[in-house]
Amino acid sequence: MIIIGAGPAGTAAAITFARAGHRPILIERTSRPTDKVCGDFLSADTIQRAQALGVDPAALGAAPIRQVRLIHGDRMAETTLPFLAMGLSRRVLDAALLHQAERAGADIRLGQTVRHLTRNGDRWTIKAGEHAEITARSVFQATGKHDLRDLPRRHTGRDAIGMKMYFALPPESAKRLDGAVELTLFPGGYAGMQQVEEGRTVLCIAVQRAAFQLFGGSWASLIAAIAHRSRRFAAILPGARALLPRPLAVAGIPYGYRAGSSCPDELYRLGDQAAVIPSLTGDGIAIALHSGTAAAETWLSGATAPTYQQTLGRTLAGQMRLAGILHRACLSGPIQSAVVRAAAVFPGALRRAATHTRLPSRASLAQP
Ligand SMILES: Cc1cc2nc3c(=O)[nH]c(=O)nc-3n(C[C@H](O)[C@H](O)[C@H](O)COP(=O)(O)OP(=O)(O)OC[C@H]3O[C@@H](n4cnc5c(N)ncnc54)[C@H](O)[C@@H]3O)c2cc1C
Repeated sequence: MIIIGAGPAGTAAAITFARAGHRPILIERTSRPTDKVCGDFLSADTIQRAQALGVDPAALGAAPIRQVRLIHGDRMAETTLPFLAMGLSRRVLDAALLHQAERAGADIRLGQTVRHLTRNGDRWTIKAGEHAEITARSVFQATGKHDLRDLPRRHTGRDAIGMKMYFALPPESAKRLDGAVELTLFPGGYAGMQQVEEGRTVLCIAVQRAAFQLFGGSWASLIAAIAHRSRRFAAILPGARALLPRPLAVAGIPYGYRAGSSCPDELYRLGDQAAVIPSLTGDGIAIALHSGTAAAETWLSGATAPTYQQTLGRTLAGQMRLAGILHRACLSGPIQSAVVRAAAVFPGALRRAATHTRLPSRASLAQP
């Protein structure tokens, strides 16, 4: 079997196959794990799934997160998370998962970009750059935010942009953020900030394209627009040192996308290729790990790709629906203030939202 993409979804599938005695081929376009547009928030579920795959975020230096703060203008709602979360950069997490896949016996092929995936009879043909074609009975597509030209995700709402930067904060600002994730709402988007390993801070923003253009169409103008609307946000960045040469960005995010259950024979869609949950939930990595493990377990049990895709769809339905409602409310200028006011009065509602936008506990696809 061939797995395309070595993010959490692809590596989870590779580890599961390799542990079962197979030697899956895992093809990744980058030559080593890199930083990715992601808020780096690991829910308790993500942490447990990573541990089950041999990766312990705490041992990698992940920063503990116990509090969540929701901010709009000068108003703030704060509560304790219903679980212990962590902040860990994707470069470190993805590298550790890849290492586990290699250790378990997967055939890792880095620096190869799959350009074509075509079905010939009962086999798939994969073409990666100048490398020789490979054929396989089953393909696990885990290319994340990037579609393959031959198999694009069809979704109408592709108007979101994601951007990210790491900072070294001055001690006072770092102290304010210690142990908390802060989500600042602004018209057309939200900005998440928290600490990751080695005392670094990540700022990750999801914004609608129209709002991004309205605010000036650049990272600097977007930051200025958010700071203009929130004194708390404005106070944290002065004196901060950017740790990447430039912000990372991704456009055309299809929030709310879910792959249908009718898929080509023996094609398993994993992670963001199966479902794109709104970022404010911080549960995309959990879904990626779950889908990778579940797809491999489904294949190993002798069941088919549509069975996997149907069961995954059912598993994710409730959390995707609620996440979509919250995402729309948090993007809409007129509603944002009411959302934060309600969360300040009823902090339990914020905790419930954090709980119910997670994968159902013990979600397993092995028994359809
Ligand atoms: C703004 C934003 C903030 C987010 N914040 C969080 C958060 O805080 N917590 C959380 O849990 N989730 C978050 N998410 C979601 C999370 O980032 C994704 O759900 C998760 O990365 C999906 O994992 P994946 O393995 O499917 O894809 P990815 O992690 O994107 O990995 C896909 C891999 O495939 C490779 N690839 C792509 N195309 C090819 C090709 N043609 N050939 C070979 N290899 C290829 C890529 O290089 C990449 O390594 C956020 C998303 C966004 C957009």
